[in-house]
Amino acid sequence: MSSRSISLVIIILMVLHGLLHTAPADVMAPEDSLEIISVANAGFYLRIGDQALVIDALFDNESPKRPGILPPPPSEYENPSLETLDALYSGQKPFKPISLALVTHVDVDHFTAPEVIKFLSQNTIAKLCCPRQVAEKIGGRGFDPRSQIIQMDPGLGKRVRHVSDSMVITAYGMNHSGNRLQTSNIAYLIEWHGLRILHLGDAGGEKVNFSRFGDQWPKVLDIVFVPYWYFNSLEKLQIIRHYLSAKILIPVHMRKNERTLLQKRHIDLESSRLYVFPSQGDKRLLDIHTVR
Ligand SMILES: [Zn+2]
Repeated sequence: MSSRSISLVIIILMVLHGLLHTAPADVMAPEDSLEIISVANAGFYLRIGDQALVIDALFDNESPKRPGILPPPPSEYENPSLETLDALYSGQKPFKPISLALVTHVDVDHFTAPEVIKFLSQNTIAKLCCPRQVAEKIGGRGFDPRSQIIQMDPGLGKRVRHVSDSMVITAYGMNHSGNRLQTSNIAYLIEWHGLRILHLGDAGGEKVNFSRFGDQWPKVLDIVFVPYWYFNSLEKLQIIRHYLSAKILIPVHMRKNERTLLQKRHIDLESSRLYVFPSQGDKRLLDIHTVR
C-alpha cells in the first residue's frame, strides 16, 4: 500500500472514530442505552435492550368505570390517555412489550385495579411487584393473578429483595407523605445493568423516613425519581443532598404549572442534573455508561 493510501485509510479511520464518539443516542447499541418515557404523574416506562418495565404507570382515574357512571372530576395531576394505556398493555409504539410492573402504593394516581388487571391478563408472563394493599385489590374479580404477583411488604423502616436473572429489586418500606400510616408506600431500588435507579412513590420527605434505614439505605444512586414537593423547602432539599444524591434527579408528581416553575427556578443540587419531563410521552435516551 502506498503512503498516500495509508494516509487515506488513517483519515477514514479518524473520521469513523469521530462519528462513533459523537453518535447521537438513537444509534447506541440497545443494551447501552436506557430509554425513559414519561407516562403520567409519577408513572414512567424504562427500557434497556429488549427488557422493559413500568412503575406507577397503570392507572386511570378519569374514565367512567361502568356504563352510565359519571367519571370522577379531573385530577390536578396528569392521567394517562386511553391510547397510552392501550399501547402499554399491547407493547406497541412508542413502547415495547413490558415484562415487569411495579406499584409503589394503592392511591388512584399511581394504581387502579382494572388497568393493572388488563395489563396482567394481556401479558401473562409479566410480573407485578406491589405491596399487599395493591395485591388485595386485584384478586377476586374473575381473574387469578397470583402466579404473576411478587408481593413486597418489608414493613416500615425495613427492606426486602427480589432477585431475577437481570435485575435486583429492593423494596424499602416508607411512610406516605402527610404521615398517612394506613398506606403502605414502597420505594423501589432497581439495580439493572449496573444502574441504580430509585423511585420513591409518595414517600414523605421527613428525615426520619430515611434515617431509620441506617446503613441499609443505598449510598450510591444513579437516577432518582423524586416527588416534586421535595424541591419546595430547604429542609427537603437537604434530604435530597443527604439521601438522594444521584447523577440524575427526575421530579415527578407535578401539577402542570409546577413544571414550568421548576424549570425556571435555580436549584443548587451540586453535581446532580435535573431532568424535567415536561409532558406525557416525553422520552430520553441515556447512555448507561455515562450515567453509572
Ligand atoms: Zn399517594
